[in-house]
Amino acid sequence: MSELGASLRDRYLGVVSRIESAALSAGRDPSEVELVVISKNHPASMVVDLAAMGARNFGENRDQEARPKSEEVSAAGVEGITWHFVGQLQSNKAKSALSYAKVLHSLDRDSLLTAVAKAAIELPEPVQVFIQLNLTDDPGRGGIQPASLEEFANRVLSSPNLVLLGVMGVAALNRPPAQDFETILWASQKLQTIDPSAKFISAGMSEDFEEAIAFGATHVRVGSAITGKRQY
Ligand SMILES: *Cc1c(COP(=O)(O)O)cnc(C)c1O
Repeated sequence: MSELGASLRDRYLGVVSRIESAALSAGRDPSEVELVVISKNHPASMVVDLAAMGARNFGENRDQEARPKSEEVSAAGVEGITWHFVGQLQSNKAKSALSYAKVLHSLDRDSLLTAVAKAAIELPEPVQVFIQLNLTDDPGRGGIQPASLEEFANRVLSSPNLVLLGVMGVAALNRPPAQDFETILWASQKLQTIDPSAKFISAGMSEDFEEAIAFGATHVRVGSAITGKRQY
């Protein structure tokens, strides 16, 4: 394997072992934490290499990039991986994104819910969704305000062929991430009072996934710590 390949392996295995240590330090079972490798801005060949190393979950944030990449990866013969969509999704791209992504982490507004619910009806398997929280005071930013979570969750729960996994959040850059992870955990507990099975938490990226695990993250979305600097 090339030098580049070897260092990709080191970074991947390094993150896998840091996830395991963070879970154990938090008194959690490491198997409760799923690694979603964010492959955006990197080629399909890197996904193929990471799949050969054992990565099973990959996340993307732009449909224009993700759709052809997912096709290239399956054309390369890779099987048994799951694509996650983690970025802001235009409603008119919902159907396309759900043609390859089984999990949507960024269900963040009513209009997208309408589009996703409509696309989901035609799919053979239910679409798994996280509700993305808005952790800022600015309602103009994407995401559901924690105070409106129950109302929005009830809409998701009444949509056929959607499975509500839980809540998702991206910690703000201008304050300690623990504050946001605490809010996400609080929102998760609130959500579980209306749907005990919606217990999953998508939180934590390259800079803060260990802290997110301490606050109950079940899905960490790690890009650059594994893939290196984005190429374009
Ligand atoms: C890019 C991205 C990530 C990964 O970010 P890194 O800092 O590279 O780990 C996680 N979540 C979302 C929503 C992203 O867009």
